[in-house]
Order: sequence, then C-alpha cells, then structure tokens
Amino acid sequence: MSKAITQSVSELIASANEAKEKSEAKFSHFRVGAAIKTEAGDVYSAFNIESSSYGLSMCAERIALWTAITAGESKFKRIAIVSDAKDFCTPCGACRQVLYELAGDIEVYMTNMKGEVKKQKLSSLIPEAFTSKTLLNGRD
Ligand SMILES: [Zn+2]
Repeated sequence: MSKAITQSVSELIASANEAKEKSEAKFSHFRVGAAIKTEAGDVYSAFNIESSSYGLSMCAERIALWTAITAGESKFKRIAIVSDAKDFCTPCGACRQVLYELAGDIEVYMTNMKGEVKKQKLSSLIPEAFTSKTLLNGRD
C-alpha cells in the first residue's frame, strides 16, 4: 500500500476516475475507469463498455491500452484502475494477459472506495505469463 503517492500518480488516478464517470455499464452497473501512462508522459483513459450480448462487453483497461496503441504508443509506465467497489479493483485475467504482453511489466495502481491506493507490478498479478517468447520458443 502506497501512503504517499506522487502527484503524477494521483493525476493518473484522477483521469481514471473521470473516465469512470462516463462508463457504459448499463447492465452490471459496475463502473470502471482506467488510465494508462506512456513512458513519454502521455495519458490515455477509458471506461468499460457493456453490450446486451454480455460476452462482447469490454474492460476499461484494454480499451485504454488499445486506444494508446492505436495512437502509435508502444512504451508504457503505469496504469491506474478505479471502480465503485469497496475493495481494490484488480484487472481481470484477460486484461492482465493483454497488458503484460503489450505494455510489459508496468506498475498497476488500484484504488478502493476508502480512497486507498495499492501499487503492484503487473508481473505479480500474472506470474509466469504466456508471451510471444513462449509462443515462438523452438522456432527459428
Ligand atoms: Zn478486464
């Protein structure tokens, strides 16, 4: 648990909270916001979007990452994830995989409704992740 967060982290969390307010979680009402920061300092934020065909819904974390990648970004530093849950909102398994593979071992900041902030390296959330190295292992 990080007690003294840096200004840039609190700004990233604020961006995630701002995105969460626009959440399209009309079925679950579980609003999530995410903001990912590049190594150059640019921030891309997003919110979760649900479909009436539930399986087609998409998490805020992946939308934020894909928005950044679409804009040409490839080097990332950290992501902030916020929700309305009492507990810290950790990324789902699919987001852990995609974030690790495309953003690397970034810092993950999660908040809870008490305003507490928890920081973890992504590798601690998805140990021994499947990556392109695994996929290409054995190939020349
Ligand atoms: Zn997810």
